[in-house]
Amino acid sequence: QSKVAGRNRLCFFNQTMQEAITARAEMEQKLREAIEHNQFQLYYQIQVSSSGQALGAEALIRWQHPEDGQISPFNFIPLAEETGLILPIGEWVLNTACAQLKKWQQNPLTQDLVLAVNVSALQIHQEDFVEQLKSILQKHKITPERLKLELTESMLVENVSGIITKINTLRKIGVLFSLDDFGTGYSSLQYLKKLPINQLKIDQSFVRDLITDTNDRAIVRTIITMSHNLGLNVIAEGVETVEQKQYLLSEGCMNYQGYLFSKPVPIDEFEALIFRLSDT
Ligand code: C2E
Ligand code: MG
Ligand code: MG
Ligand code: MG
Repeated sequence: QSKVAGRNRLCFFNQTMQEAITARAEMEQKLREAIEHNQFQLYYQIQVSSSGQALGAEALIRWQHPEDGQISPFNFIPLAEETGLILPIGEWVLNTACAQLKKWQQNPLTQDLVLAVNVSALQIHQEDFVEQLKSILQKHKITPERLKLELTESMLVENVSGIITKINTLRKIGVLFSLDDFGTGYSSLQYLKKLPINQLKIDQSFVRDLITDTNDRAIVRTIITMSHNLGLNVIAEGVETVEQKQYLLSEGCMNYQGYLFSKPVPIDEFEALIFRLSDT
């Protein structure tokens, strides 16, 4: 009896697993086609100072699939990382971002904007990452001080000293670094102390309930104080309300990103926003 049930159960699991494997393989194939057919786009989300001045933007990838419509990075970046496809995708992102920076640097209204680009663990762990980036910077002839790479704590698990060396080399030529989603990973303060970065980015999960959750308030206050004490710039992500911005400001965080200012938007919309802001 139980043997039969067991066997049935096994069959059931097998089928589910088979379906998952097939779905994954299909998604991987779609992702390869997306790279080949250039189905990606960068959206830009403004970053502002406490006075409302535009500091720059974060570049966020969008996948425009011909049948499925827009696919969120949450639904393909993890698979891209597992399959290694994040390498060609990441290279495309860096090239596209730098081409955009080049255009901004030719216009007085946009020449000071800093563009933040997300870099995944696999990318930065590549042996020739520094060389790759240098050649992209040279190809587009951009001022490296306008490019900010967003790293996450999760990449500070293995070969931390190798990453520190890479960051140091790139810092020397001017490239900026921000630690994204700060507070959600397991990075030890030991690493933070040694990490030659410029900025901490407070994760949106702490900003969301800032007004009502006393624990979140305490965490955010602590991150801001720690940033200042370590000589780091600090920015909050996921700022949606004036109240959240006011609290962050009152605690000394002067840089913000979130729907309160703008969603991530296509380049034309982003530039329209910048020109509108500089008009006033
Ligand atoms: P992230 O780097 O932490 O980016 C912030 C995410 O929060 C973005 O989601 C953005 O649209 C969203 N967001 C911004 N403001 C608000 C707000 O006020 N409220 C709420 N609820 N959300 C807000 P998105 O664009 O879906 O990207 C998700 C994640 O995918 C990113 O998180 C990043 O980890 C990854 N990603 C996006 N583009 C790239 C890329 O080019 N390369 C790599 N490696 N990862 C990327
Ligand atoms: Mg980011
Ligand atoms: Mg983030
Ligand atoms: Mg985040």
